[in-house]
Amino acid sequence: MPKFIFVVLDGLRFDTAISQMGYMSHLVEKSKASLYKVKSELPSLSRPLYEVLLTGTPSWQNGITGNQVVRLSRQQSLFHLARNKGLTTAAAAYFWVSELYNRAPFDYLQDREQHELNHPIQHGKFYFDDTYPDTHLFADAEYLRRTYDPDFLYIHSMNIDDSGHKYTSDSKEYRGKALIADSILAQLLPVWMKENYHILITADHGMNEDGHHGGTGNGERDVPMFVISSLFEPGVYTDEYVPQLALAPLGASLLGLEPSHDMMPFLIPGFHNKRHGMEV
Ligand SMILES: [Zn+2]
Repeated sequence: MPKFIFVVLDGLRFDTAISQMGYMSHLVEKSKASLYKVKSELPSLSRPLYEVLLTGTPSWQNGITGNQVVRLSRQQSLFHLARNKGLTTAAAAYFWVSELYNRAPFDYLQDREQHELNHPIQHGKFYFDDTYPDTHLFADAEYLRRTYDPDFLYIHSMNIDDSGHKYTSDSKEYRGKALIADSILAQLLPVWMKENYHILITADHGMNEDGHHGGTGNGERDVPMFVISSLFEPGVYTDEYVPQLALAPLGASLLGLEPSHDMMPFLIPGFHNKRHGMEV
């Protein structure tokens, strides 16, 4: 069965990804990865967009309308779909992801590390400090991958977003965190590519020059999507936007799963999946 690694770099806007992520652009330039431009859903806020990325449903429908909505998701997420089909799921992510799919509210003393096979996220390592280093977060994820061999691994970093809020998107600090993420990926992607994972790297939302997101500006809404997969024809497909609601059903397809009832499959250029195409 295909295995899927889904990486979300919180707060990474499209143009910063292109200008700072030399390794990712190298993979695109050498036809090892595909590049897309995604238009985020609204509001361009973290918790609502985690739900968008993982369930393929918009905020008005899923009810996660703001960062303050602290409860379990009522949708079928990729974690649910995978677990229900007997696949193994894992996540190294911010604690809000645990609150959406495993347990809410987050208990700092109990929920940092979770291993419960009946939960949508069966193996989780969750951090709750926005400055938790991305280097450590990716090491957590790699530990989960090597130890539990998940079919679906979700990795979610926070340092880019944190720097954007402190110093704005137009700062050496924000750009520097994107550079660091790129260098971490340059260590991990060769390992994952050798093992033939389907890999998708994107962001929930971007960041504006005020150090905010939540509105409708391109800096806040336009995010990259890099895909490395044998099911994709490598290329640069940035002439048109990919809607963010398309990512969850794409993830389902990469895992060989039927999308949920509420996911809306979207024809993504360069993606060769017969079953997916028929559903469209
Ligand atoms: Zn933020």
